[in-house]
Amino acid sequence: MTENAPLAPLTTLRLGGPARRLVTAHTDQEVIAAVQAADAVGEPLLVIGGGSNLVIGDAGFDGTVLRIATTGSTLDGTVLELAAGEVWADAVATVVLEHGLAGIEFLAGIPGSAGATPVQNVGAYGQEVSQTITEVVAYDRRAGELVTLTNAECGFSYRHSRFKAEPDRWVVLRVRFGLEDHGGLSTPIRYPEVARHYGVEAGGRVEVAAAWNAVLELRAGKGMVLDETDHDTWSAGSFFTNPVLTPEQYQAFLARLDGRQAPAYPAPDGATKTSAAWLIDHAGFRKGYGSGPATLSTKHTLALTNRGRATTADLLSLAREIRAGVHAAFGVELVNEPVMVGVEL
Ligand SMILES: Cc1cc2nc3c(=O)[nH]c(=O)nc-3n(C[C@H](O)[C@H](O)[C@H](O)COP(=O)(O)OP(=O)(O)OC[C@H]3O[C@@H](n4cnc5c(N)ncnc54)[C@H](O)[C@@H]3O)c2cc1C
Repeated sequence: MTENAPLAPLTTLRLGGPARRLVTAHTDQEVIAAVQAADAVGEPLLVIGGGSNLVIGDAGFDGTVLRIATTGSTLDGTVLELAAGEVWADAVATVVLEHGLAGIEFLAGIPGSAGATPVQNVGAYGQEVSQTITEVVAYDRRAGELVTLTNAECGFSYRHSRFKAEPDRWVVLRVRFGLEDHGGLSTPIRYPEVARHYGVEAGGRVEVAAAWNAVLELRAGKGMVLDETDHDTWSAGSFFTNPVLTPEQYQAFLARLDGRQAPAYPAPDGATKTSAAWLIDHAGFRKGYGSGPATLSTKHTLALTNRGRATTADLLSLAREIRAGVHAAFGVELVNEPVMVGVEL
């Protein structure tokens, strides 16, 4: 346990003030003991994994930060179980490259821990963990007991889950996935950019290792694979979620396009999902926008980055400017994807 521990080095944005106390847990028992100790005295608790989806305020966190560093993975046929602290990108690489299994190959290179993947239903290139997660073993702080939640009980939707909706209730300990064995082939390619990369039709399959590799190449080109020497990756990934518009909101949006074609994908309940990156770009915020210590990535309009000396206040001021600019141009309210700690957008 460390008192007054700097949190910035534990986040991919390298931002945020100190924690009053930092505890690192290496076993499930240590996780549960730390949570129970905090809950017993009403101490504020922040659970973190790889810190890749966190915006922590400059004042830090006045409570206990619990860093989950548990390890362990088992693969029984196509059933994969990962301890929450396992590094997600390494686990994906292992099942794809060593076992030729499919189901999470398009989620290659996403930073952070396995235990955080159900929290925002991590997704990329047409795949989401909700498609393969079968069960999540979690500590329920409200009931004070271990529970196993089925996929349906996780309440997954686009970049959302029950864990994100009730952040002070759940601590994820283990995640179980049902992978697929297609004899070394990938699941059908849903994302046009990946299909184009292989010259196959959307819905086609390629070698699973090739799919994994293509995703890593595409991600690296957008600064979406961590590289500590590249400030374009000092981010929390996509800063805003893609807006999901009701039919009325979508009609109002179309009326403001003046003949321009914005991306549009069908979403549940008759809604339409459009692209936050497109909106930001067409509102006039190009790649690299910003002259201060926080700017847009030079490789991707959706990543807000720390160029080395930024504060969280700098980052939020850029985020607010972009949100206001998009609203003024298109009437659409952007919503942040990373979790805010002690600050609001
Ligand atoms: C360069 C880059 C690219 C990215 N690309 C993608 C992408 O393609 N798709 C995508 O979906 N995301 C992406 N992200 C966001 C991020 O990687 C994911 O959200 C990831 O799952 C966060 O994992 P983490 O361990 O770093 O979580 P943290 O940032 O440490 O925590 C995030 C949230 O999860 C909670 N949490 C963490 N662990 C647990 C646990 N064991 N139990 C309960 N709650 C927990 C925290 O309290 C916090 O609310 C990207 C981020 C970066 C920096």
